[in-house]
Amino acid sequence: MAHIHTIEDQNGDAVEYHYYCSDTCNQLDNGENYRGWYGCVELHSPENCKRCNTELYYVSENRKRALRHCF
Ligand SMILES: [Zn+2]
Repeated sequence: MAHIHTIEDQNGDAVEYHYYCSDTCNQLDNGENYRGWYGCVELHSPENCKRCNTELYYVSENRKRALRHCF
């Protein structure tokens, strides 16, 4: 599960996603650009938290990993 910060271009289209382990990392990394809570997102590929580099849980053949606690 991941928290996501969306980067948009001038037209408001999402061009990039930053992944975080928690809303706290999202807020601390983005400061005034923080766009609100956007968490508990199911990932399908391995990602690390952009701020603290924690490995995020994602859906794979072992579904138990995706059912971890969401915060
Ligand atoms: Zn983090």
